[in-house]
Amino acid sequence: MSENIPTYEAAVIGSGISGMYVTYRLRELGVDFRVFEAGSDVGGTWYWCRYPGARFDSESWSYGYFFDKELLQEWDWKEHFSPQPDTLEHLYLVADKHDLRRDITFNANVAAAEFDDEANQWTVTFEDGSRVRATLLISCLGVLSAPTLPDIPGRDDFQGQAFHTARWPHEPVLFEGKRVGVIGTGATAIQAIPEIAKTAEHLTVFQRHPNWAAPLHNSKTTPEEQKDIKARYEEIYARCWETAGCFIHTPDPRSALDVTPEEREAFWEKLYSEPGFGIWIGNYRDILTDERANALATEYMTRKIRERIDDPEIAEKLIPKNHGFGLRRLPLESGYFEAYNRSNVRLVDLLEAPIEGITAKGVRTTVEEHELDILVYATGFDGVTGGYDNIDIRGPGGRRLRDDWKDDLPKTFLGVINDGFPNLLMVLGPHTSRGNIPRHIEKIVDFNIGIIRHMRENGYSRIEVRPEEAEKWLAQVKDVNEGRLAGKIASWQTGVNANVPGRQTIRVLGYYGGAVRYREQAEQVAAEGYKELLFR
Ligand code: NAP
Repeated sequence: MSENIPTYEAAVIGSGISGMYVTYRLRELGVDFRVFEAGSDVGGTWYWCRYPGARFDSESWSYGYFFDKELLQEWDWKEHFSPQPDTLEHLYLVADKHDLRRDITFNANVAAAEFDDEANQWTVTFEDGSRVRATLLISCLGVLSAPTLPDIPGRDDFQGQAFHTARWPHEPVLFEGKRVGVIGTGATAIQAIPEIAKTAEHLTVFQRHPNWAAPLHNSKTTPEEQKDIKARYEEIYARCWETAGCFIHTPDPRSALDVTPEEREAFWEKLYSEPGFGIWIGNYRDILTDERANALATEYMTRKIRERIDDPEIAEKLIPKNHGFGLRRLPLESGYFEAYNRSNVRLVDLLEAPIEGITAKGVRTTVEEHELDILVYATGFDGVTGGYDNIDIRGPGGRRLRDDWKDDLPKTFLGVINDGFPNLLMVLGPHTSRGNIPRHIEKIVDFNIGIIRHMRENGYSRIEVRPEEAEKWLAQVKDVNEGRLAGKIASWQTGVNANVPGRQTIRVLGYYGGAVRYREQAEQVAAEGYKELLFR
């Protein structure tokens, strides 16, 4: 009966970094709302991805929330690139300090959301059949919240322990004396493999395609550095907002083609020896846009892999052949390549011997069966749209978001609201800008909060995007994607996942015109009274 269904002004899905900040801001605005979270606590990615070796590869002190200046001074980042347990501790501290959990219902898996066109209201249905109603539905699903298992027969037959890295148990997994297998060699596996190799009796890595990776050069933060970081937070924040991805790194204005080979080599050696993403996004301005410049960088990184691997045959297998350096989101590593020099680690090249199936004892390729005690699926996510596709979201007339996004590119305004889906606001939806995630989240949440404030001040109960404005945004999204070499490479960022039916085609799923340009446009829209949106 409808009167028994809890009804709110806003229902929020997810309490990761976006959802936590939305909670803080909605409460500040005095909105009657509730957050629904699938996990048993806050933290999102940092709650779920507890695999060994999980950590940031952007500088910790540029990643945390900046809205609470007091907390910035209270909290010490123990390492320059924070490990997952410390990051989660930081997020728990934020939740404790602002008492965020009281507005959040945990262990609540959203199964469906349906819009009532007459009442201007969403009905949200959970997996246990319970429901809530809300005028606004705010998605804080994130871009990597739908983990995918490999499409390999026999997964349920395995008699040992098996874990996806994004659904890692809360209790420690002990590898001592165990034969461990890892499927996948993306950013996650590149962090996990060296850690697992340290204690496992034997580790077998099942690699289909290798990825480029560069050294992270992490270190503990000294007390002097801590003091310096705390004194410079305003400067760090300003620096982030000067760069395309909100990281502290910015490209070198020179072309890789305009310098001598000696200069190039010296610059690349310097970048390779420095912490963080400099080698990727602090590199010559054209290595990600000019094929000749990219080929030079690729050749340099190829040599680095060969230098670090003892066995030349293994080195060749670890050199990516299907994409140039930096054309997928670059994983940063701590001893990844050296792990293959250990006697307890074996690389299985699935391009030579594909997996036929998972068996009770382990993994069977076309050549042999690998017996395992623990099998780790580091097989990634159905990126960007996957979290939404997993929920049956229906707009007016039963129109399904999943169908809209099946073959066509999402038509959104600023990635925040999708054409034809009133009152559904997204944080990190498709076609928002990307990079240092918390920096983007803060601005996108603030933009969403501005819309909600505008609705409340004017007594509106319905918001949608003018279709022509969604068309215009899509045109800009496509336009700024032109010339990016990465836009032509299959990865989660281009919406490709070999394990998900229908997700084999490259799509543009982010706004790549830069964080500054994105933010300026959002601020202008707000300043001019949201004329791209229709309010009722
Ligand atoms: P990913 O980069 O998509 O890698 C998935 C891996 O699984 C690939 O090596 C893929 O091989 C392999 N795979 C998938 N299905 C397979 C199958 N059926 N058989 C064999 N291999 C299969 O996923 P991820 O490593 O989880 O990383 C995703 C993103 O998470 C990163 O790009 C990054 O944005 C984020 N992340 C961030 C951090 C950080 O901040 N430090 C750390 C980890 C992850 P193919 O290439 O052959 O398909």
